[in-house]
Amino acid sequence: MPLNRLLKTVCESVRRFSSRKMDDLQVKIGPSILNADLGDLGNECVRMMDSGADYLHLDVMDGHFVPNLTFGHPVVKCLRGKVPKAFFDLHMMVSNPHAWVGPMQDAGADQYTFHYEAASDDVLGLARRIKETGMKVGVGVKPATDVDVILPLLNSDLIDTVLIMTVEPGFGGQRFMEDMMPKVSAIRSRFPLINIEVDGGVGPNNVDVCAEAGANMIVSGTAIIKSDDPSQTIRHMRAVAQDVINKGSLDR
Ligand SMILES: [Zn+2]
Repeated sequence: MPLNRLLKTVCESVRRFSSRKMDDLQVKIGPSILNADLGDLGNECVRMMDSGADYLHLDVMDGHFVPNLTFGHPVVKCLRGKVPKAFFDLHMMVSNPHAWVGPMQDAGADQYTFHYEAASDDVLGLARRIKETGMKVGVGVKPATDVDVILPLLNSDLIDTVLIMTVEPGFGGQRFMEDMMPKVSAIRSRFPLINIEVDGGVGPNNVDVCAEAGANMIVSGTAIIKSDDPSQTIRHMRAVAQDVINKGSLDR
């Protein structure tokens, strides 16, 4: 076969392969219960799962890494009893993420998402430790953190999910920072299949922007929790984002 035809065939196969793989990228909508009725968290979790949530995003704050406090592993353990089958993504906004790996696994966490900024002295060690427990590994970056710093970690194959914060972590109800989208695109262009999660100010009005950049795990707090019809909001957001991602895969 002439070289140019061989090259063309190879390129075509690669294109078809990457297109098919991109189609495998599933959009998942994960309500954050930060702005839910914290006095009735168990029922709020049940309500979100009954509304069709793909997972629950649980924001743990220690009053040190961020200037706010929420809840820890004893509460997570109680919530696990209320929604035994829900996938729990623990967003650990804590200064010592090494300390809570065991307790959170014991409490029933499915994914342990720590902040790069809190673990930069031993990021690989922490990722390995989480992996060993059987939990999935997430790593998050604050808005001011350059995404380049986590690329070596992503090359390690230890990371299941990258969390790009689209607000300053620590409070719910903040305005979405669209200027974080280039970070999402930068990761998606290098890692076609990794889960990329966005968190902060995301709702039906901007979920398309997130998906266009390449995000497939969509955390949404207020927009879902306070919705008159959370089922419809979740369905709508998932459909919009999946459509954008599928179209993107055809263009590639
Ligand atoms: Zn979060």
